[in-house]
Amino acid sequence: MSRARTLLLWAAATDRTFALVGQRPDRRLEGKCIFCRRRLALALDRDERHPTATVEHILPRAHGGTDALENLAVACRRCNGGKGKRLDPAGPGHPTFDRVVERLRAERRKRWREPPENLDLPALR
Ligand SMILES: [Zn+2]
Repeated sequence: MSRARTLLLWAAATDRTFALVGQRPDRRLEGKCIFCRRRLALALDRDERHPTATVEHILPRAHGGTDALENLAVACRRCNGGKGKRLDPAGPGHPTFDRVVERLRAERRKRWREPPENLDLPALR
């Protein structure tokens, strides 16, 4: 499993809008995009070729954001790409950039939970 996919699964597992649905080998985590709240489903037991759910770095990596779980969220592909295009060139100190990052941090804190133990997620390295 790719590192991006592992991070995505951990981001969903620590977001209380995501619930476990289905049985092996077709389990899914279903929850909401951190931006637009569109419903998203992630396959737990296999890779997906064209996933609609992506891992969002709240503070972008280009601006020093890390892979710490608190900095990760689940976003649909459209929202994630749009945010990058609009905000990455602006960067910290730009009012829109700072406002969006703060809003996402607050939403992530609101949704935070410890990951359920029954998911058997791949190890975070
Ligand atoms: Zn979205």
